[in-house]
Amino acid sequence: MGEPCGAPLAPAPQHEPAAAPSLPLFPDPERLDADLLAFLKQASDQLCRWWGDSSQRSPLPLLSVLPEVAPAADGLDPLALLDDLQLVMDGAFNPVHPGSMAHLDPPPLTASVAADLICAGLNNNLLAEELSPSLSRLERILCAWMAERLGLGAQAGGVAASGGSLSNLMALVVARQQRQLLGAQEALVFCSADAHVSIAKALAVMGLPPSALRPVAVDGGGCLQVDQLAAQLDAASAAGQPVLAVVATAGTTVRGAIDPLGPIAALCRARQIWLHVDGAIGAVFGLSSQHAALVQGLGRADSLTVNPQKLLGITKTSSLLLLRQPDALASCFATGLPYMEPSWAEAHGGECGLQGTRPAEVLKLWLGLRQLGLNGIDQVLSGAIERRQQLQTLLEPLPLELRSGPLHLLAFTPRHLSAPEAENWSQQTRHRLLERQLMLSRPLYQGRHHLKAVLGNPHTGVAQLEAVADVVAASLPAPQSLR
Ligand SMILES: *Cc1c(COP(=O)(O)O)cnc(C)c1O
Repeated sequence: MGEPCGAPLAPAPQHEPAAAPSLPLFPDPERLDADLLAFLKQASDQLCRWWGDSSQRSPLPLLSVLPEVAPAADGLDPLALLDDLQLVMDGAFNPVHPGSMAHLDPPPLTASVAADLICAGLNNNLLAEELSPSLSRLERILCAWMAERLGLGAQAGGVAASGGSLSNLMALVVARQQRQLLGAQEALVFCSADAHVSIAKALAVMGLPPSALRPVAVDGGGCLQVDQLAAQLDAASAAGQPVLAVVATAGTTVRGAIDPLGPIAALCRARQIWLHVDGAIGAVFGLSSQHAALVQGLGRADSLTVNPQKLLGITKTSSLLLLRQPDALASCFATGLPYMEPSWAEAHGGECGLQGTRPAEVLKLWLGLRQLGLNGIDQVLSGAIERRQQLQTLLEPLPLELRSGPLHLLAFTPRHLSAPEAENWSQQTRHRLLERQLMLSRPLYQGRHHLKAVLGNPHTGVAQLEAVADVVAASLPAPQSLR
């Protein structure tokens, strides 16, 4: 028998305070709290549903409604909390969508999401060991493992930081202290013209003038030109200007180019210059026996930034600063923590970097890497490179300038357009792509706007890549109208 049209629907959710389940403000130390358990289950239910239907929403929601923001006089019941949460979720960027390929923000690795929840629940503090006994050790050991695997040597180690910008800043602060250039306003930092903006930001924080940053020209592949670097270092030395550090980039932000790390390291070694490698994008390739050759020379750095949040899907934030001589961290940042028990190892977490109180971000990195295994890491990296190659193959016949490197990033812009024409084209084409639920970004590179695809999303398939190529092909001026 068919259902009549007026069949009863599921009962409407009841929000009267009397009917609502209760939620304790703090976990009960005496018993397993069924209300709390139900609340956390509902919250993870909601999250799993958000993931599960994310292909039906746009990668970038355009309209969204925010719930009330300021706390009311009385606190909300759990159902109201979850409803409000849902509104914010509905307006969130959607990294799980197969068309999400704009930035270095992949879908989250599932074990890392669980570890993030546990991290919040443990509410430990990496500031000091008595506030994070097991987690401090986990961080120290995982940093040492990662550093050794990346070739920094058996003594190497490091510290977790809330993002690559902070890792880069700490590296340069350490380099300055190690090179005894603390008061030197004339000290210089050399990096490729395509280096990340966080290097300039770091120098500003360090109180150095903008002229302290010396960009070195890149070649046609977006890699720092070593002969140019050598000439600029010679000139600095002739002018009596000290060098604070050379920063090489392993994976530039627009195209994923890898500076020639070995030759740069040799140059730095010969002149006793600190070499920092910004491997926020590329260093993870050094974890893979299959792909390590792409970042050959990584291990010759004095310091190295790694951002597992960018391609491996460790939930944000996840960045490490690794050093060949990790004691340099404490010798730079330690002030003593007179209100804490002494460290059981060399130094407290809060004495190895700029951050004081910080969450145990290592937990989601550790669990995520354990979930992947070395073979899983290989697969994530290989998949990303393959998708970039597939898209490149699809775009190659078109009259585009393709900017890539060996990794998973590909930027492109039509040949022969002026800067304003390229800006226009990039805006319109990004819009067309978004209409098909394909999200690319629009970097300004070498004076002209490009579209950029970052192929780190494992859900992006041939269908999306072909759709990108179709939209881009349709966006290009007909051949006869090209100048
Ligand atoms: C993303 C990025 C950074 C900065 O990392 P955040 O985590 O965003 O602070 C530094 N260097 C490079 C090359 C990057 O791509």
